[in-house]
Amino acid sequence: MNFVCSSAVFNGKKGKQGLPLLCIQLIAGQERSWPELAQAHRALADVRTRDVVCDGFTVRLQHNPGRTVNSIASVNRQDIKARACFLCAESLPQEQKGILYRDEYLILCNPRPVFHSHLTVTYVRHIPQAIAGSIDALLQLAADLGSGWAVLYNGPQCGASAPDHLHFQAVPSGQMPIEKETVDKKRLAMIAEVDGIPLARMRGMGREIMVLTGDNPSALGNAFKKLLNSLQRALCINEEPMMNIAAFYEDGTWRLLIFPRQKHRPDVFFREDDERVVVSPAVIEMGGVIVAPMEKDFERIDAPLVEGIFREVSLDATTVDGAVAKMLLATRSP
Ligand SMILES: [Zn+2]
Repeated sequence: MNFVCSSAVFNGKKGKQGLPLLCIQLIAGQERSWPELAQAHRALADVRTRDVVCDGFTVRLQHNPGRTVNSIASVNRQDIKARACFLCAESLPQEQKGILYRDEYLILCNPRPVFHSHLTVTYVRHIPQAIAGSIDALLQLAADLGSGWAVLYNGPQCGASAPDHLHFQAVPSGQMPIEKETVDKKRLAMIAEVDGIPLARMRGMGREIMVLTGDNPSALGNAFKKLLNSLQRALCINEEPMMNIAAFYEDGTWRLLIFPRQKHRPDVFFREDDERVVVSPAVIEMGGVIVAPMEKDFERIDAPLVEGIFREVSLDATTVDGAVAKMLLATRSP
């Protein structure tokens, strides 16, 4: 890896600077030394937002032209193979600095942010985006960043703009409507306990959301892998089930939100006429912030369209029921 771009190191040793402070220093330093990032952060101040009240939940539309490249990025295998990986250290912009995190990841500023202080956390080697082997790292990162941040994951076929290179995102907490909604107990239906880890399902959110909560990261990681395995069996697939993940950590407890998916982009995304709507749902959209890079989409997106997109891209309730049933059966088996 290219250590030239590592400006700080975090290895979790006691007595060293905490990770949140290192990130704040990284962001401030990059705003001074990297004009593109400074400009992107300034542009966020002018981004228009509008709340759309849907059936039982609310989303925030964000008209962010800076995200056009991300929203329309091709993720098909041939195109990915043909391009140089933009997350590999040797391809990073010359101005980019990072924090070498626990020897395995590089924490970087995202030059096309959805929120101020939007970070990309890339694995130091070029290996495919996959969660089973990296869930423990994601939980560790959430704990090291603390309650001020959310750690995000997009599956390789449902939102990751680099499905060939393992990466997470981190954004300041409090930005996505789902964060408030998920602590509202009325919305949570407890459905199972997996090795002592409660699994809940959110109700009335217009899309499937599963919530694992726990204070033991290895038990939580194992429960997550059992859920992943049950989804695989319910879908009769060997590859990773499509999903987005948001992880939060506060007072020693992790909360893992899992958005199971059945489709990356809705049909309206592929229309070739004026009816095309450029919305490419990834974890931030599933969390309730819908990025609309085109102004006409920002103007016309309404509740029925949002509800329809969620219905189309979220895994259906029957399949989720089947996965939960399989998991309970496996948990009870000797
Ligand atoms: Zn790469």
